[in-house]
Amino acid sequence: MKFSEMPYVRPDLEQLKTLAQQTVAGLNNAGSAAEQAEHYRAFETAEKNVETMSALVFIRHSIDTQDEFYTREQDWMDQAMPQFEELRQQVNLALLRSPYRRELGELLGQLLFTNLEIAVRSFKPELMPLMAEENKLVSDYQKLYASAMVEFDGKTMPLPMLGPYKQSTDRAVRKAAYETEGRFFDEHREELDTIYDSLIKNRTAQGKLMGYDNFIPLGYDRLGRNCYGPAKVAAFRQQVAQDLVPVISRLKKVQQQRLGLEKLSLYDDVMNFADGNATPEGTADDILAAGLQMYHGLSPETAEFIDFLYENELLDVLSKPGKGPGGFCSALPDYQSPFIFANFNGTSADVDVLTHEAGHAFADYRAARKGYVRALQSPTIEACECHSMSMEFLTQDFHHLFFGKDTRKYEISHCEDSIGFIPYGCMVDEFQHRVYENPNLTPDQRNAVWMELEKKYRPWLDFEELPFFSRGAGWQRQLHIYLMPFYYIDYCMAQSVALQFWIASMADREGTWKKYLAFADLGGTRSFEELVRSAGLEVPYEDGCMEKIGLAVEQWLKNNPL
Ligand code: ZN
Repeated sequence: MKFSEMPYVRPDLEQLKTLAQQTVAGLNNAGSAAEQAEHYRAFETAEKNVETMSALVFIRHSIDTQDEFYTREQDWMDQAMPQFEELRQQVNLALLRSPYRRELGELLGQLLFTNLEIAVRSFKPELMPLMAEENKLVSDYQKLYASAMVEFDGKTMPLPMLGPYKQSTDRAVRKAAYETEGRFFDEHREELDTIYDSLIKNRTAQGKLMGYDNFIPLGYDRLGRNCYGPAKVAAFRQQVAQDLVPVISRLKKVQQQRLGLEKLSLYDDVMNFADGNATPEGTADDILAAGLQMYHGLSPETAEFIDFLYENELLDVLSKPGKGPGGFCSALPDYQSPFIFANFNGTSADVDVLTHEAGHAFADYRAARKGYVRALQSPTIEACECHSMSMEFLTQDFHHLFFGKDTRKYEISHCEDSIGFIPYGCMVDEFQHRVYENPNLTPDQRNAVWMELEKKYRPWLDFEELPFFSRGAGWQRQLHIYLMPFYYIDYCMAQSVALQFWIASMADREGTWKKYLAFADLGGTRSFEELVRSAGLEVPYEDGCMEKIGLAVEQWLKNNPL
């Protein structure tokens, strides 16, 4: 069905409450696993409809934030969803009490029970006052960030608008843009430190309420991690520091020489070429047409997918007045349809919508057709990012449709940025482990930890002339650190898998595509570790994995100069 024709009906909470009660009673009284599965499936149908309606409201409201009807419906959803969550929790608890667990696992998917147990142990009602306070602190940070206006280039602008200046080919402009950003953070130093301090104390209290020494185990559970804990993540970071950082230091030396610089400053880090990075050719329509051609060329499966997407109006990518910012990929389970929302701006980020976001959408499209229970359709976050980040690489033979003569430039910077990101992501992760393990650190002590980690993970960078960064406060720009604790290493793990898919594809395009397809087709029925192994790849936190990736990528860059 076309997106514009999908009907919206506000979910009936009373009816859902009755259904939840019936489902719980049905689960409790059922005489067999098959009977229980039937009750669960019936509730799930209603659940999918609520999710579809909520997504329709969110998408339509984002496309036109001025629309009064969907603004009102969005408000209704915001207050209704927690109530619906509670109903879902009741059903899940009843399912967990099942005496037929093994048989039921065969019918619904074994991982469902593991995931439900994690969800159940990450919440108890006593947490609620602390959670409300946590939400308030998070939104204080978001408000501060969103309200930030700075003077630059004779204009007053919000912080993200400094982005293009930070990538200017004029080094003095880049430096000035970083200084301007740093000044904003310096001016709000106390506020930013106080918010974070309160967040650490709050989350530590939540961890203790759940019976832990600190927040870390609860933080992992909240992300639904079902196959690794802090020890494996530490082993991953260790490999990155030991085996990958030396490789990237060598790559950074090459970049520095290419730029003709004596030393690489923070504001040179993402400058891959002295004359600027690659930008796509043509208009937004040209980019969309190239996307169609790309997925037709890649495989029969992606051809079917992209036709479905375009024919059913499942993407809205042009910027227009009143449209909400940013980009995302959403799901409409009633129609087995993904939806892509974006704001094209004429940079290579527009191409990312068609390679990265479409990778998420493709995985959703495939898994939605496999008959999995909804709760097992999508895997954990790092595995979802494998879908998208790998697609960025597996579409390699078609990037020339977007970049023309700049294609090689794009490939080089995409490769360098992808691998160069991993140490930064590890730094963000190790920082969080350190501060949650030591919740009483002072703001200055926290900054000292960050500086120590900069030397460990990014020894090639120089900050000396930038006061905000050289006092070790650079972490305050990273939204995830405030908003979503421990969610960041996910991107590093996913990137390590994407790079492995890419390396494998260099020798065997067909075979690698089949493995990627099988990975996506398993949806969330397997853990991250199992998915990676099923594709014949190495799990990033296992010994030796990162060294191999680093050396292969370095070799590719040597063989493919500009
Ligand atoms: Zn993504």
